[in-house]
Amino acid sequence: MAQRVAVSDGGNKKSSRVRVAVRLRPYMDKQDGKGEGPCVRGLDSQNLEIINWRNATETVKYHFDAFHGEQTTQQEVFLSSVKPILPHILNGQNASVFAYGPTGAGKTHTMLGSSEQPGVIPRAVGEVFKLVKAEDEGWDYSIGMSYLEIYNEKVLDLLSPSSQDLPIREDKDKNIFIPGLTHTTITSFNDFDKQFVPASLNRTTASTKLNQRSSRSHAILLIKVVRTQCALPHRQQTGKLYLVDLAGSEDNRRTGNQGIRLKESGAINLSLFTLSKVVDSLNSGTAVRVPYRDSKLTRLLQDSLGGSAHSVMITNIAPEYKYYFDTFNALNFAAKSKLIVNKPFTRETVAMPVLPVKRAREDDEARGSGT
Ligand code: ADP
Ligand code: MG
Repeated sequence: MAQRVAVSDGGNKKSSRVRVAVRLRPYMDKQDGKGEGPCVRGLDSQNLEIINWRNATETVKYHFDAFHGEQTTQQEVFLSSVKPILPHILNGQNASVFAYGPTGAGKTHTMLGSSEQPGVIPRAVGEVFKLVKAEDEGWDYSIGMSYLEIYNEKVLDLLSPSSQDLPIREDKDKNIFIPGLTHTTITSFNDFDKQFVPASLNRTTASTKLNQRSSRSHAILLIKVVRTQCALPHRQQTGKLYLVDLAGSEDNRRTGNQGIRLKESGAINLSLFTLSKVVDSLNSGTAVRVPYRDSKLTRLLQDSLGGSAHSVMITNIAPEYKYYFDTFNALNFAAKSKLIVNKPFTRETVAMPVLPVKRAREDDEARGSGT
């Protein structure tokens, strides 16, 4: 009988930070009736700028762990932002990858992609099988998957679509789990595909019936790697990888002094709002309390986001003006720092930093800086 061993976090404080990458999708004329051109552009592998809405002679410059420009391939995003964290899940550690951003900015393209341009999910699953195959002897590996959706704070099993809202529990070792959630062993990439593709279709079909559901729900794929020592005492370690296509961040829009503005039907996405608070408090380094328990998504991810887990958030943005405010909000959430730069957007001139704003929030942007 296998003995369960709690995995220590190795005291690695640094890993509790969520790495933040931004991906700008290509400009699409169709999305921009006015033909105004892009309002945001990349500067280098870590910086981008967006035109200042209040003063077109200024831009706001942002710094990230990584910036992926519109030319970036699916392979490049995978190699730089996702592949490096995968080996940890073979060692009993947890990891999570999120695609964040407004609807239409490329979250599903980044996570799922297409058969011609596969995204993070198929590449990560393929890589996990490859890593397991390359492991040296001494351990037996078993890989399994679950696939679920959080919609209106309900946890729904996408591998068993008729199931009802499922509870989230924590065991005595602080592992989070969902009793009753389908967990299927997969033995190859094809095996994975056979389960995953029809389940994804379930979700798409439901979305047309239920008013843009796919842009308001979080699709969460869990890949679990359990390894068991062949020799006595048969130690066992479990590593979890969460791959998450988040709800559109436009539901989470906040405005200057009015606090949270409720959009359309008025239902704010509590899980997305709480996720932004959790990432914020993990990355600010001054967390008094990380509010994991305030929503289903963050509660589920509690053991795989922050702490000893390896987490990456890929913030997807679109360059057209019609996305301006959603882009601006997404960048302000994701950025470590930003800088107002006195410089026309369309011409190249010497950039003059005017106002370094550390961790500036929401709409406090350039107000007053251009006077
Ligand atoms: P989201 O899931 O955030 O709503 P999608 O992934 O559906 O956005 O992307 C919206 C549209 O833009 C889709 O037609 C998608 O194929 C396209 N798209 C997104 N990102 C890219 C990219 N990096 N390169 C090419 N096309 C993209
Ligand atoms: Mg999508």
